[in-house]
Amino acid sequence: MNKKELTEKAASHLRIFCSEIGERRVGSKENRKATTYAEKVLNELGWKTESTELSVIDWHTDGATLTCQGLSFEVLSSHYSLGCSVTDELVAIDRVEQLEKTNIEDKIVLLHGGIAAQQIAPKHFPFWNPEEHQYLISLLERGNPKALVCATERNAATAGGVYPFPLFEDGDFDIPSVYMKDTEGEKLLAFAGKTVELVSGARRIPETAFNVIGRNSSGEKERIVITAHIDTKIGTTGAMDNATGVTILLLLAELLNNYTDKYPIELVVLNGEDYYGAPGQVSYLERNKGRFDEMLLNINIDGAGYKEGWSCFSPFNLPEDMLDVLHEVLWDSPELVEGLPWYQSDHSMFLQQGCPAIAVSSKWFIDHMDTQEITHTPKDNLEVVNYERVAECALGIAAFIKKLEYD
Ligand SMILES: [Zn+2]
Repeated sequence: MNKKELTEKAASHLRIFCSEIGERRVGSKENRKATTYAEKVLNELGWKTESTELSVIDWHTDGATLTCQGLSFEVLSSHYSLGCSVTDELVAIDRVEQLEKTNIEDKIVLLHGGIAAQQIAPKHFPFWNPEEHQYLISLLERGNPKALVCATERNAATAGGVYPFPLFEDGDFDIPSVYMKDTEGEKLLAFAGKTVELVSGARRIPETAFNVIGRNSSGEKERIVITAHIDTKIGTTGAMDNATGVTILLLLAELLNNYTDKYPIELVVLNGEDYYGAPGQVSYLERNKGRFDEMLLNINIDGAGYKEGWSCFSPFNLPEDMLDVLHEVLWDSPELVEGLPWYQSDHSMFLQQGCPAIAVSSKWFIDHMDTQEITHTPKDNLEVVNYERVAECALGIAAFIKKLEYD
């Protein structure tokens, strides 16, 4: 298939994921529509598919309000938080040392400043979990406040481009919480010690989601595992993050159709990269426990196809001959460049298990990871995607695998 046809196919898949379906948060009907579509495409192209059911929670809010002495403050329910309707004294905390010494039992706690600077890793998040975050959570749970009000600024490194960002985004953390802009938090600070009323109409809903795996062979030894996550954050159509990744996976299903099975290929649509419990990743890990050394390589696609700049392939721990093959492919395709290492996606899971990996993304995104304001926001839509870049990534990955097989 030539690049023009492939670009058209990319556009058609992307329209379905981003325009017809839209936001694909884990547990939502739209998320299941997206995995059903991916499975259908894989089947039609002759791949044997398997879908793994995941027990997850979906989440909904009717909104939140915070009032004090007749004044209203703008707040949002923290994603995946429980709801609440509470009235009590407001206590303001900006440092961990202060939290250690303050009685917050049954109070409503305003977390602001340094203590609210970084998004807190979910309690049971398996891949990134700093000790200081777990310590903060345990202090809060022991303190047993009625609810939390989190005033946050912008932190692209931990929360993408969202402002304000939910300090907690964790369905396993049971203290009800809301979040607000840091500027709103400064106004609220004047009411510390006063009685405030907080209502958050949030609720958790038990639901299901699916991983979808396509295989072109029954063999498992030396297989190449190509991954892309299909879920989005709440409030975004997730074009770059990661409809383009799943689209490239579906284009590869077409391009790799007639390959030999010297290296079996597994196309894995993962569900949960942008969700607090990473359920699809955890399920994949469990099902392949102790067998990651059977895999030849992981190729993970996330953030590919941005309109500015070239696509980048970042190698991690590749054996020398494989790295040579990658360099040949990059040499042949000027629109693909070698990328610096980055770790904020599913290839990290494979690296942690000792499997070499290539991460495919957009160079512009990797270069601007800590400052860009697109990821996890409504700006991550089809307007920032270049469909040709998407097709080029698929062609580059296919060329690489072809060279590996026939070299
Ligand atoms: Zn992503």
